[in-house]
Amino acid sequence: MGFDLPGLLAGRRGQGYELHARYLNPQLPRMLHAIGFDKVYERAEGAYLYDRDGNRYADFLAGFGVFGVGRNHPVVRGALHSMLDAELADMIQFDCSLLPGLLAEQLLAKADGLDRVYFCNSGTEAVEASLKFARYATGRSRILYCDHAFHGLTAGSLSVNGSAEFRRGFDPLLPDSAIPFGDLDALERELRKGDVAALIVEPVQGKGAHVVPQGYLGAAKKLLHDHGALLICDEVQTGIGRTGRFFGYQHDDVEPDIVTVAKALSGGFVPVGATLAKDWIFEKVYSSMDRVLVHDSTFGSNAAAMVAGLASLSVIEDEQLVTNAEQMGKLLRDALRDMIEEYELLVDVRGRGLIVGMEFGKPRSLKLRTGWNMLQAARRGLFAQMVVVALFQKHRILTQVSGDFMDVIKLLPPLTITETEVTLFREAFADVMAEAHKGSGLMWDFGRTLVRQAVTR
Ligand code: PLP
Repeated sequence: MGFDLPGLLAGRRGQGYELHARYLNPQLPRMLHAIGFDKVYERAEGAYLYDRDGNRYADFLAGFGVFGVGRNHPVVRGALHSMLDAELADMIQFDCSLLPGLLAEQLLAKADGLDRVYFCNSGTEAVEASLKFARYATGRSRILYCDHAFHGLTAGSLSVNGSAEFRRGFDPLLPDSAIPFGDLDALERELRKGDVAALIVEPVQGKGAHVVPQGYLGAAKKLLHDHGALLICDEVQTGIGRTGRFFGYQHDDVEPDIVTVAKALSGGFVPVGATLAKDWIFEKVYSSMDRVLVHDSTFGSNAAAMVAGLASLSVIEDEQLVTNAEQMGKLLRDALRDMIEEYELLVDVRGRGLIVGMEFGKPRSLKLRTGWNMLQAARRGLFAQMVVVALFQKHRILTQVSGDFMDVIKLLPPLTITETEVTLFREAFADVMAEAHKGSGLMWDFGRTLVRQAVTR
């Protein structure tokens, strides 16, 4: 009997959690069972997921931002089918195939003053390349990054991670220094030491959904260049239209030296990452024929990834998804911001385009303060977790907490959402907030379960 994918999927239907528990990261199924997220999804389309019982879930997580064009977009699927049917000569390694050239040409046309592209397979690899390029091009070792920064979890990217909980136990990492997000004085103090290769920064931080202050990137670049260092914008999450511009840095008047992208470029199908940089940086790193493979990846420019990238860019253009992200993001943030006055636990709504953060904070009223304090005493961030679970259980909307130890939830829906999904989310969130502001009931009962879990952990 040959390989039969439909037969395999039907025959082993529903066994995913058991297999993960036995063979993969055992904490994932444990965590999903604990918060009631242990669904078996069978189908997906656009901004929606469907479980085995036919229930529909609105996807405001988009695979951590991968599904910019929505799930199973017919144009990307069609392009991948055509790619397979074409029986291409792929990954010869010693040739210059057409597809990477075409995708590089298109990405660079969207960037400002960047000249060349290195393709790899993930966000963290795109960041690794950016760190190596910056160090080699400047001849310096130290990289600056921001508090709460997230740039991936391989060793180099972890060296510029701004959260202790990710770094703990993996030392020693690369020479680095954390500076407060948006703080130019701190940047200049570090630059004066003369050993800094680059600053790496997310235009909107994934952890906490903080937007870089207006004008910071331009001023930072000037300081960096005055001290012989480079500006790297990590656009793995913010790039490809997410913030309402093609790149998140384009909200500022700045041309970074290096830019990383990944996630949405994949069309949600084929992992891909890309590091865009100035010509002189490539000329330095790849300075002779001897150095042609000095930084490279076997799968880097594979045809499936390149086709998924080209098809995704075409969809983004044809469906005007960058403009849609800007408009729907504004609609969503405005609607949520209007609730701050009514719901005292909601203290801030922020973000750019379709990366939206909602922060919760200490309530004024005594009725709510006892419950809030109970959660805070056990572990910061439990209230946000309660909201995420309520949105999922009661309204079938998938979201995430924006990071450990912060009471922020983050929305990262596909860039294809319309007013229908904005209304769906607004109404569900208002219902969850109303429930939370009663100070008792099912939501707070679950909060007490979370406290017990946190205390016994
Ligand atoms: N950089 C940023 C800004 C990210 O948000 C992420 C992932 O969330 C990464 C890098 C790492 O990407 P990947 O998970 O594809 O390695």
